[in-house]
Amino acid sequence: MRFSSTRRCSICNLRRGSRYCLRKGKYICWSDCNELRIDLKCPSGCSYTLKQSDSSQQDLPFQLQVKTDSRKEFRELLLKEMDKWIITPQPLFGNRMPLEMADSATGKKEIENLFLKFKIPDFIPMKYLADRLHLDSLKIPELIPDYENTAAEYLDKIIAQDWAGMLHYKLNQNHYAREIYLNNFLNRIKNNRILRKMREHNLIASAVTDDHRQALVFHEINGKYDLTVTLYRKNSQWFVKGFIMGPLELVNGENEAIQQIAVLLSKNDFSRAFSLLRKYTDIYFDSADMYYYWGMYYSLTHNPAAAEIYFLTAIEIDPDFIEAKYNYAYILHTRGDKPGARDFYREIIEQNPQYLKALNNLASLYIEEGNFTEAADLLELCLGIDPDFKFARENRNRLQKLIEEEK
Ligand SMILES: [Zn+2]
Repeated sequence: MRFSSTRRCSICNLRRGSRYCLRKGKYICWSDCNELRIDLKCPSGCSYTLKQSDSSQQDLPFQLQVKTDSRKEFRELLLKEMDKWIITPQPLFGNRMPLEMADSATGKKEIENLFLKFKIPDFIPMKYLADRLHLDSLKIPELIPDYENTAAEYLDKIIAQDWAGMLHYKLNQNHYAREIYLNNFLNRIKNNRILRKMREHNLIASAVTDDHRQALVFHEINGKYDLTVTLYRKNSQWFVKGFIMGPLELVNGENEAIQQIAVLLSKNDFSRAFSLLRKYTDIYFDSADMYYYWGMYYSLTHNPAAAEIYFLTAIEIDPDFIEAKYNYAYILHTRGDKPGARDFYREIIEQNPQYLKALNNLASLYIEEGNFTEAADLLELCLGIDPDFKFARENRNRLQKLIEEEK
């Protein structure tokens, strides 16, 4: 597993030196890369080089063909491009400078007319240009918060310990209306050593899937820790799914880590499973699978109290994780929390009416409570789905005996 280096930028000595600059022969930050490449004098061999635009006078200005690691980096480069554009003689305006043209009402109108011809893409920060040249009649579309904005605002809420505000950004926020999940979630946040000490966050890179439904935003926390926010888009809004305590490439390692742990547990290799679980839970902070396997680990090593805590976290993160919910309900059941177990069994059946183990166990619970009619209905349902389900047959025999004894 590779962790990114936390080396500093050799120009500002402040931000992370996340890329190697061919021009300086040193590692630099994306912000200083923007400062350098805007003059178009970077070596052509560098993948981050800004090339002279080959767009014609008929095209919308500011369409940069350049590699950037985030939308923010691209936007800040565009601001520099705008600064340059307004003080450069423009052939399409007869070699006049936009900054000087903007001194007169007619010149301003000419500039406005140019931009009125286009539908301006939302990633171009037109407001900045309009403000600099006082293009008052230009209609600027409202900027829609993107995944990078959403991730940054979410982290700000955590720094401010504004828990209610934070939930507003969270995927499945209705789920957190339930106190048991909310408290579990807040405890995880408050007990995490990186999140607890977070004072500042700096964007390093981001990525989005081709269908624009999922995004990853990688930050440096307090100048030394890696943190990637994972987000989902619902309707046109971005929501936070969770955190990975590492650079964004680590998102690809989660499934492999889970598989390794599952294999070790199936072989009863508990000591190796334990050390992998420790290692990966530090990274995959919001992996429901990881907590589920912690639950399995503690179930298999006969520590139901610990297993209960981890199964709860698995369903706190993923309310649709039926197997984890069943294991949680079963632990409640065996330790005598019948009302708790009943609620969760019912919930499972609501989510998956064919889930035999929950149907049968809820029937058991009803038998224990003397609620024979409901128990019989459930067992009938259960055996209707699988007539050979052993535990349901046993329960039905037990129930029949009890009913006969009562007569
Ligand atoms: Zn720098």
